[in-house]
Amino acid sequence: MPEQRVAVITGSTRGIGFAIAQQLAREEMQVVLNASSEKGLADAVAGLPGGSGRHCGIAADVRRWDQVSAMAAKVRERFGRCDLLVNNAGFTRFIPHDHLEDLTEEIFDQTLDVNLKGPYLCTRAFAPLLRLHPPGLIVNIASLAARTAVGSSVAYCASKAGLVTMTQALARALAPEIRVNSISPGLVDTLLTRDFGDYRGESIQRTPLSRLATVEEIARAVWVLDRQLTFVTGENLVVDGGRSLC
Ligand code: NAD
Repeated sequence: MPEQRVAVITGSTRGIGFAIAQQLAREEMQVVLNASSEKGLADAVAGLPGGSGRHCGIAADVRRWDQVSAMAAKVRERFGRCDLLVNNAGFTRFIPHDHLEDLTEEIFDQTLDVNLKGPYLCTRAFAPLLRLHPPGLIVNIASLAARTAVGSSVAYCASKAGLVTMTQALARALAPEIRVNSISPGLVDTLLTRDFGDYRGESIQRTPLSRLATVEEIARAVWVLDRQLTFVTGENLVVDGGRSLC
């Protein structure tokens, strides 16, 4: 029997990350869930098709090299391979762009550290494993904010724009063994966006398909990049219901 492929998904106990994990587990992959602490990890693993016999959870703060490199070592020890890394962990605070005083240095740093430095550290830690069974794939979950500069904060827009550009640079640097792509969702119905108030309604109004994306629709985009779009690297797949047209 062929060895089962392995996917590592950061920030994956809920929301888009958990939906990606469910999709990949249904496709017979072994899945490594991640969160910054142990809280919720075991329950999330148990909620995947195949449960803890097939999948596992590893706590690691994506902002910390020591923790991210330890996570890669654990994946090597347990599975001996990694075929797909999804840099999904994200952080934001909703701050109107003209409220410069409210976007503090601390919030700015946390936004850039989780959304931009985290994917870099994870790429660095997992690249050796991804190279073992080429072509490996990295998918960075960016945002439409990268293209439109409309998003929850100035720092969030900047972090996601940086992530899209870093995706292109890494795609060139890591080819041909590893493909690197990003996905830019428009607004998705998750806990992250529940407290966005009027912004959600406005976004729906300005979206030609007249609704938010579901987490499953973003998960399917990851699967398509992995299994179908095998000659694509350095690309940013926009999944926004046409929002960027308006
Ligand atoms: P979410 O808040 O439900 O999930 C983000 C996850 O990242 C959480 O589980 C959180 O605990 C985890 N995380 C945060 N900091 C971490 C760290 N330092 N280390 C490890 N894990 C950490 O949000 P979501 O809506 O599911 O978003 C997932 C990704 O999609 C994010 O990168 C987000 O920016 C992006 N995105 C979301 C939307 C949307 O509308 N929801 C739109 C575009 C892009």
